[in-house]
Amino acid sequence: MDENRDIVIVGGGPSGLAAAIYAGRARFKTVILEKMMLGGQVALTNDIANYPGFPDGVAGPELTELMEKQARKFGAEIRLEEVVSVSLDGDIKIVATTAGNAYRAPVVILSSGADPRKLECPGEEELRGRGVSYCATCDGPFFRNKVVTVIGGGDAALKEGLFLTKFASRVILVHRRQGFRAEKIYVEEARQNPKFEFVLDAVVKEIQGGDKVKNILVENVITKTQTGIPCDGVFIFVGHLPNSGMASKIVETDPAGHVATNRDMETKIPGLYAIGDLRQGSYRQIATGVGEGVTAAMHAERRIDEWIRTGVWSH
Ligand code: NAP
Repeated sequence: MDENRDIVIVGGGPSGLAAAIYAGRARFKTVILEKMMLGGQVALTNDIANYPGFPDGVAGPELTELMEKQARKFGAEIRLEEVVSVSLDGDIKIVATTAGNAYRAPVVILSSGADPRKLECPGEEELRGRGVSYCATCDGPFFRNKVVTVIGGGDAALKEGLFLTKFASRVILVHRRQGFRAEKIYVEEARQNPKFEFVLDAVVKEIQGGDKVKNILVENVITKTQTGIPCDGVFIFVGHLPNSGMASKIVETDPAGHVATNRDMETKIPGLYAIGDLRQGSYRQIATGVGEGVTAAMHAERRIDEWIRTGVWSH
């Protein structure tokens, strides 16, 4: 069915919800299209310690719920529909979903985030859900008093690894070099935690096991020596791949799939914005994603007003 909106927001993570709050307050007919669950990766995060205003931290689902409530309060509509394509009809965008709907809007804000990157080693796919996981909040409690390995050296690996020490008897972090991308505060905390161990300069060659994970085979990148690490779980946090595929016919992406924008979050196509984890150069923090959402919505307001004035669009 064809439907008209002023603003279509693709993805209901914090950046999309922030854009919806501002768009709703500006009295634009706004819909958020979310394929699965509001909050995105944030909804899977147990404790957010660095979002301003919550000195004692806040759980991801709770923060998501508060943002959702605020977006709905100002009139944003939220629909659970997966977007399959974004195309153009002159200045108007057409957003098609698996529900068979086609939304026509002058402004589309892409905030579809990113999915976990795979290690792509033997055993990863076969043992997924049988010890291989990409979400500590979801699966951590299954590893009470067990040994788990965590792969990666960014914020997610350190933060989620620390969360896993609540359940596991040992958390062994395997990282391919000595330095970390993660915030120093997480690395310090991990070094002080008696359950936390580091295996550095090492890459995973294979995840082994029969019906469940039993071992990972790692190789030291300098000596090339291979060692087995017996474990019950492998939590993989090696970055993310942006979900920009639905717009790939109309916007260019960099080789990793990020969408380039100007400082107003607008792509080369007027009225098409990209915010949050799929935007090139984003710091990929909740606070920056929220700021990007607000920026896009405020610029979109000017764009729509101009198009109403010039007859390109009417409510
Ligand atoms: P990230 O910062 O991109 O880190 C990915 C890590 O995985 C890096 O240490 C990287 O190693 C390693 N890696 C990548 N490919 C690998 C491979 N094939 N084999 C082995 N290791 C591999 O990703 P992230 O930790 O998911 O974080 C993503 C963004 O979200 C970041 O901007 C981060 O700040 C943000 N975030 C923030 C928080 C927070 O609490 N502030 C929490 C979660 C995420 P190299 O370092 O050697 O490249």
